[in-house]
Amino acid sequence: MKNLVLGIAVLCFTLTSKVDDSHHVHGRGQARIKITGDKVAIKLKLPVHNIIGFERQPKSKAQRQELVKAEAMLLQVDNVVKLAPISECELASKKLTVKRFKKKKNHEHADFMLSYKFRCLRPSELNEIQFVVFDRFVKLQNIDVLLSYGAKGGTKSAKTEELTRQRDTLQIVKS
Ligand SMILES: [Zn+2]
Repeated sequence: MKNLVLGIAVLCFTLTSKVDDSHHVHGRGQARIKITGDKVAIKLKLPVHNIIGFERQPKSKAQRQELVKAEAMLLQVDNVVKLAPISECELASKKLTVKRFKKKKNHEHADFMLSYKFRCLRPSELNEIQFVVFDRFVKLQNIDVLLSYGAKGGTKSAKTEELTRQRDTLQIVKS
């Protein structure tokens, strides 16, 4: 049952993708944020290269330690995103996986796939989300964000926006 639920979750993830999943560009991350009632789901894809400087499977003990350290940092949500404190959003769940694949010339690449789920006491006050991940990992240059609002039977509205090191905060304007 657990696998089935996971399968469905992964399928939804793919189907609702509007930020292109196939692109893997060093320096550029992708985020999908969905706000539904008092729930906020954030999915983030970051090239591993921008976090630890290499993407192949770790070969030495030092590299393995670097990967473990990076994963621990990413699982601390305060190192990645900050939701407007006034909205009183609490982290409800988090998940991190590494997706490995090969591109041209058999070069190994990898993405960190992060998922955070929040529950907010005052969701109407959620007016911004800061991507502090830019401060923590200096090789990260841009994040393409897709922000959408959930509604019964699908997505109500969506917008895409590019965040950069200089402009790391997503403004949320509700219509
Ligand atoms: Zn790569």
